[in-house]
Amino acid sequence: MESELRFCPHCGAGVTPDAIFCSHCGKPLEEPKLSTSIGKQILIYFVSLFLPPFGLAWTFKYLRQQNKTARTVGLVSLILTIVGIIGTVWITMGLLNNLSSSLNSSLGGSINDSQLNQFLQNY
Ligand SMILES: [Zn+2]
Repeated sequence: MESELRFCPHCGAGVTPDAIFCSHCGKPLEEPKLSTSIGKQILIYFVSLFLPPFGLAWTFKYLRQQNKTARTVGLVSLILTIVGIIGTVWITMGLLNNLSSSLNSSLGGSINDSQLNQFLQNY
């Protein structure tokens, strides 16, 4: 693609779009600009929040950018990743609690505390 072509600002050699250093003169290149379009932001935030920790790959890429908007995107996705992880842990704990209380109630139907005490006293 024509638009993906980049040129080294130091020597003018063509470089690959994701190159960090010029392959010709070895000088550092500007990092490729990452998209901060609304669609991309929604995707990053969605993955950060609902599929942690997969958003972190973007988080660190965006946090490294010079661009303030991109850094904000990185920061927000970092916060959302933390919220997402806490949420996942919280939901898992809730499910485990539900599971143990439903196990208790299904056992409670046949064995209540006094029956259990009698049972233990017989031994
Ligand atoms: Zn160069």
